[in-house]
Amino acid sequence: MSKAKTRDRNAPKPLSILFVASEIYPIAKTGGLADVAYGLPIALRDLEHDIRVMLPKYGAISERKNRIHEINRLKDIPVSVGERTELATVKSSSITNPRQKVQAYMTTNHHYYDSKWGLYADPETGADYEDNDERFIFFNKTVVQTCLLLGWIPNVVHVNDWQTALTAAYMRVMFPDKFKATKIVLTIHNIANQGEFPFKEAFAKTGLPAEVAENFKHKGKLNFLKAGMIYADHITTVSEGYAKEILADAKLSNGLNDILKKRKAVFTPILNGIDPLIWSPDKDKTIARRFTFADLDKKEDNKIDLVKKFGLQYNEATPVIAMISRLVEQKGFALLKEAAESLLKKDIQMVILGEGDKKIEQMLLSLMKKYPKKLSVKIGFDEILAHQIEAGADMFLMPSLFEPCGLNQMYSCVYGTIPIVHAVGGLADTIKEFSPKTAQGNGFTFVKFEAGAMLKAIDKALVTYQNKEQWMGLIKNAMSSDFTWSKSSKQYDGIYRALMATLDKTK
Ligand code: ADP
Repeated sequence: MSKAKTRDRNAPKPLSILFVASEIYPIAKTGGLADVAYGLPIALRDLEHDIRVMLPKYGAISERKNRIHEINRLKDIPVSVGERTELATVKSSSITNPRQKVQAYMTTNHHYYDSKWGLYADPETGADYEDNDERFIFFNKTVVQTCLLLGWIPNVVHVNDWQTALTAAYMRVMFPDKFKATKIVLTIHNIANQGEFPFKEAFAKTGLPAEVAENFKHKGKLNFLKAGMIYADHITTVSEGYAKEILADAKLSNGLNDILKKRKAVFTPILNGIDPLIWSPDKDKTIARRFTFADLDKKEDNKIDLVKKFGLQYNEATPVIAMISRLVEQKGFALLKEAAESLLKKDIQMVILGEGDKKIEQMLLSLMKKYPKKLSVKIGFDEILAHQIEAGADMFLMPSLFEPCGLNQMYSCVYGTIPIVHAVGGLADTIKEFSPKTAQGNGFTFVKFEAGAMLKAIDKALVTYQNKEQWMGLIKNAMSSDFTWSKSSKQYDGIYRALMATLDKTK
């Protein structure tokens, strides 16, 4: 009894943390950021922190489904964006798992969010909303207002990517005293998107004073991410490989590597995790049949279900290669296009789920027309189908030009779906080439970003697939990969605590 008490006293005090992101699963999702903005806060809650999350309430988000309700103190808050003043009402919802519940604040406003269905782009045309600068200036201002109006000044504010980076600037420039005991962490999930807007007009909309303008200017444009990188106390990114790449590569980082170099002492890579309650073949209620490595024959039932869903003919001996992806250049569709003719002549079937760039959609649909027995494409966003693909496919192709972390290769591993990846960023960190000699490795990789190299990697996978014993060994390795959040959340915890310690010293 007394021992337990002593331990409690010595345990570090839980911190109050506001985690701000432009998408959070299951409320709003276009890609991996949403999964991270769910899994990491839940894992930090497991570490006892008082963590709350915040995002905009886009038009597509249902109030009823997400049990959104009002908060008395956060109604009709006037927020100016340039000349315009709009009222923000911040509402309450939550993200949960069977163990935990995390409070979610959501900024509502008709003009910026309710009247627009998409998160960043019009789903009809695929074009970014023209007022994205205003939409996120408005949102970041409401983040600061929420803390002030609630009288809840968190120990840590954790912002993610360009959409939420301005929160750091507003706290430091507009309210330095109020947030002097708050430490700000910025995570870069994808440096390719920096939130660039015409400088003069967009900076005027921020309402920030001219003397800080240089902190927002990059290559003649207003750059939200740059500002975040300057004002944050600590910067992280989502894999070691990607951290090295964006530090070294001016093209990949659009020149922001200069700032990263200057801030190297406070720049840390932390690999993303995956949530085992959501992505795990033995617990997944969305798939045809749950399975573990011990009863892999049940995975075959998922394959039968999958090919049927995609309108293909089931053949046990024919491997199914899958892709689930935002349809953007980053994901390597140029390689797929180049390799398609040779690839689709092989004894394989392919299923692809994605949405995005209309040209890529058209390219895939015309390939499907040409090879209807080999390739089936579904355009759209379908969370359940994504799970069924992971469960039923034999292989998962990720030929990304660059990949900050990548989640799908990790989901694939735990579902025994063997990843074939371009060895960059987080893909290189998580997928190790299978060696038939040593029986080590959890997938297949290619180094040169070339169609020929990708085809060679696929051929290696196809040869191994024919060798039942080797393939089983490979699946076993993949399924036992450890990608859970527990290690990574402790690393974030370590960063938060180190930041708190610097505060204690300056007191
Ligand atoms: P990124 O964040 O660059 O989009 P990741 O591999 O990190 O790539 O994460 C992608 C996430 O988005 C995965 O959870 C994947 O299943 C999901 N996803 C992407 N496109 C779709 C889609 N069309 N339908 C359902 N889920 C999708």
